[in-house]
Amino acid sequence: MAALLCLRLWRIQLTGGEPTGALLGAVAALAAASAGAGFLISYLVLNRWARYAEELRRVAEALPAAGAKPRLAPPPEMAELTDAILRTASQVKSTVERATLESSRRETILAGMAEGVLAVDSKLSVVFYNEAFARAFKARLPVAEGRPLYEAVREPALHNILEMVVRSGESAREQFQLPSAAGHWFEAHALPFLDARNRGAIVVLHDVSDIQRQEQARKDFVANVSHELRTPLAAIRGYAETLLDGALDDGANNRRFVEVILAHAIRLNNIASDLLVLSELDSNAPAIPPDRVNMLEVIDSATRTVESSAALRKVRLIQGRCEDCVVIGYRFRLEQALVNLMDNAVKFNRPDGEVCVECGFTGNGTVRLSVSDTGIGIPSEDLKRIFERFYRVDKARSRRVGGTGLGLSIVKQIIERMGGSISVESQLGRGTRFTIVLQSF
Ligand code: ADP
Repeated sequence: MAALLCLRLWRIQLTGGEPTGALLGAVAALAAASAGAGFLISYLVLNRWARYAEELRRVAEALPAAGAKPRLAPPPEMAELTDAILRTASQVKSTVERATLESSRRETILAGMAEGVLAVDSKLSVVFYNEAFARAFKARLPVAEGRPLYEAVREPALHNILEMVVRSGESAREQFQLPSAAGHWFEAHALPFLDARNRGAIVVLHDVSDIQRQEQARKDFVANVSHELRTPLAAIRGYAETLLDGALDDGANNRRFVEVILAHAIRLNNIASDLLVLSELDSNAPAIPPDRVNMLEVIDSATRTVESSAALRKVRLIQGRCEDCVVIGYRFRLEQALVNLMDNAVKFNRPDGEVCVECGFTGNGTVRLSVSDTGIGIPSEDLKRIFERFYRVDKARSRRVGGTGLGLSIVKQIIERMGGSISVESQLGRGTRFTIVLQSF
């Protein structure tokens, strides 16, 4: 139709004639109609694309929670784009899942660590710390990310090591005592790490207070042993030299000098055997299984051992109320502990004093063994230190009576090895009572 009208218009123009108004009108109407149809088609196509694009936007926004798919069929022109987006969506989904799993694993590990972990960014603002760190430094949880480190924890030593690592990019290791963590000692290992753009630092804090304490105790012990040995050795040497220098012929003194040498040799021997016992108790040699121990037998045997020294000091040994108890432990060690307690009760007693041993069931599956005396007593301020190695209330008196300062620490260690406990109560000038509690058989 359009072609026929155009042909007629062309012929009229060739012949020099004028087209009629009707012809022109028909041509214009036809042009308008075809433009309208084109517009309608374009409108429909664009509308479908727009709706589909909206659908794709919804799918993209649902990423990475995804699994989402377009609810509309894609226009053919968008089929490839749709496939590409869905492929990417599935990759993003698995990457996010992996990252989430990884991060939850890391958080579980960090939360379960005994060591405190702290991370800071390049400006030394807190990025993260774990629960152990928060516990040690009483820092707030959840972590206030972005808070300056010195506000979260005021510790110049910690600040310095992190600053040094951020600046140098090199790891560092240091040991320091941190007042805000109750004065504990920490071994700090700080490492650089890269966040999105800048270098931060992460520090792992290992509490070494126990190791420090043990190390200090070991040093003190060695110093104490040397000190304890020095006195008798010096005395033995001095008196031996005096004897050789002529005192051997000094009838009035030579015997006394030899007696002093003997007393100090005995003291050295006591120290050596107590140290041997302690080292045996300290060693982690596999323990022989504990056995049934009859308390009456132990009490009888220990009483016989201290009888002579009690008689020498005119101290009476009394067996108070003693029930027929059996405990779980080591017979030889228990006897040794009881001898130490009874020996002290005799040594630190007064003439005509008494030492009383009692034992009985407590009613809750344990047995109580007590040694009480009518002796000099222990000042209350010394009571808490009495079980320490080489601790003595009165050094001179302890030495005079042949003490080593190790007896009570041996007792405590023996009783604790057997799963029991020991306590002490004392009144100055009136007497002392040691009480041991052990598992009944
Ligand atoms: P020592 O070898 O000096 O007796 P111990 O470890 O047995 O060492 O005892 C430590 C200190 O505890 C003693 O030196 C003494 O001062 C005090 N002590 C122990 N038992 C008694 C007691 N029954 N009465 C008074 N003081 C005691």
